[in-house]
Amino acid sequence: MKRRTFFGSGLAALTAASLPYTRLFAAAGTDVPAIGLDGRQLTLKANDIEDLRAHLRGPLLLAGTEGYDGARTIWNRAFDRKPALIARCAGAADVTAAVNFARAQGLLTAVRGGGHSLSGQSVCDGGLLIDLSLMGAIRIDPLAKRARIEPGVRLAQFDREAQAFGLAAPLGTVSDTGAAGLTLGGGFGRLCRKHGLACDNLVSADLVTADGRFVKASAQENPDLLWALRGGGGNFGVVTSLEYRLHPAGPMMYGGPLVYPFAQARDVLRGFADFIATAPDELFLFAFLAPAPEHQRVVMFDISYCGPLAAAERVVAPLRKLGKPVKDGLGPTPYVELQRSGDAGNPPGRYYIKGGYVRQITPGLTDSLVDYLESSPADNTVFGFAQFGGAISRVKPDATAYWHREASHEVIAIGFWGDAAGAEPTTQWVRGAFKKIEPLIDGYYVNHGGYDESERRIRANYGDNYPRLAQLKKRYDPGNQFRLNANIKPA
Ligand SMILES: Cc1cc2nc3c(=O)[nH]c(=O)nc-3n(C[C@H](O)[C@H](O)[C@H](O)COP(=O)(O)OP(=O)(O)OC[C@H]3O[C@@H](n4cnc5c(N)ncnc54)[C@H](O)[C@@H]3O)c2cc1C
Repeated sequence: MKRRTFFGSGLAALTAASLPYTRLFAAAGTDVPAIGLDGRQLTLKANDIEDLRAHLRGPLLLAGTEGYDGARTIWNRAFDRKPALIARCAGAADVTAAVNFARAQGLLTAVRGGGHSLSGQSVCDGGLLIDLSLMGAIRIDPLAKRARIEPGVRLAQFDREAQAFGLAAPLGTVSDTGAAGLTLGGGFGRLCRKHGLACDNLVSADLVTADGRFVKASAQENPDLLWALRGGGGNFGVVTSLEYRLHPAGPMMYGGPLVYPFAQARDVLRGFADFIATAPDELFLFAFLAPAPEHQRVVMFDISYCGPLAAAERVVAPLRKLGKPVKDGLGPTPYVELQRSGDAGNPPGRYYIKGGYVRQITPGLTDSLVDYLESSPADNTVFGFAQFGGAISRVKPDATAYWHREASHEVIAIGFWGDAAGAEPTTQWVRGAFKKIEPLIDGYYVNHGGYDESERRIRANYGDNYPRLAQLKKRYDPGNQFRLNANIKPA
């Protein structure tokens, strides 16, 4: 069954085509037009560019040079942005050189790891793209149950190395997502209800701050910075290395898809709401109302259970009785396979997404989404219910920057389209859907926002942690060099 389960935007006002400098072709040895932090037009002098190049171990790419288009392309193809320069960093020294250059030039700066930004903020028009995707080292310490990774590492690579020792860090649900971006904003996935969010398992990090300093954040050194990195997103500098706590996991787990036809959606979702309210921490269930060719639309439960295999059938039994499934793919499955099972349904493309947290799945919520689908059918849209709770909720909201500990789920509406004509109607559809459930929403997820948000909504990402984050932003990035994110304004 081919399905799309996830996420994206195509706001005309934000596309590269509307900006003049994208017409300019920049060859080596010439001055390059660029965009400043405040949106001003700048000129980057050829000598300064060559000086930056000389300080980098990795390549520096300009429009028209080999590799430039590949390096600026991100998962969400709704964003076709053209940076003035792309510094493909090979290590922390390159990151330092790039940050110093951006600050000295007053240049708009984007930071890219795995390139899975939904809101397109990991690439910018006319600025400097600090591309970390070449930094892919992973070191596992099986005795200490620790991993250290560089910021270009994808989830699949991390899982593979850790699984060689029967270990895993709680990460996300789609295996080509970047571990660093995911972790800095929170990071939910199959092991998080048992072991906490990805950010809860971040033990230390190295980063280059806006003034070009190389800083370590750990329980011993700059603990307030570690606090901020656990959910505060990319606001505080460029993270060059992340250390995680690992947990025994796999190699086999239990899980897979359980699929019901849309005709049964109301009853199945009501039963799901009852079931999920008391589910054990070992269970993670991502529910979708998704299009599927042979059934028009389905209710799909993407299930994983990380407890004892012998108990799994009993745990999921009530879900199997919610209706008459059209597919039951549940069974013992390698952990890495479950981790890759979402990939095919989430190919790169043009996407728009809106989401928010709820404290409970209620019949009012699920019925209103089913009503919306019935009254405004669209086969390029998905609703998702990502499960939180468990260990995530046992951390105090102010213990890390990640605030929304009481959420039971994040509810997301996703639209995707092929050609440009699809952008506007799909975006409107997603906004309309989200409006229906907005009164039930209690906060937003840093990693799923950043499109077109009001200051009020951005603050709601961080709840009551916002003032402390704003103080730390002032200390580490007073000029707001790192603003292409769910942006915290310096206090
Ligand atoms: C298909 C898909 C599936 C997803 N599934 C999940 C999921 O299951 N669970 C979940 O929690 N989230 C999920 N997400 C959201 C994902 O966590 C965020 O989009 C995340 O930011 C992606 O990280 P990245 O490194 O791939 O992205 P990038 O586009 O490279 O970066 C996104 C942003 O993160 C910041 N950033 C990245 N690296 C660094 C760094 N080293 N230093 C400082 N700032 C940095 C920057 O602000 C950047 O704009 C998913 C996204 C997609 C597209």
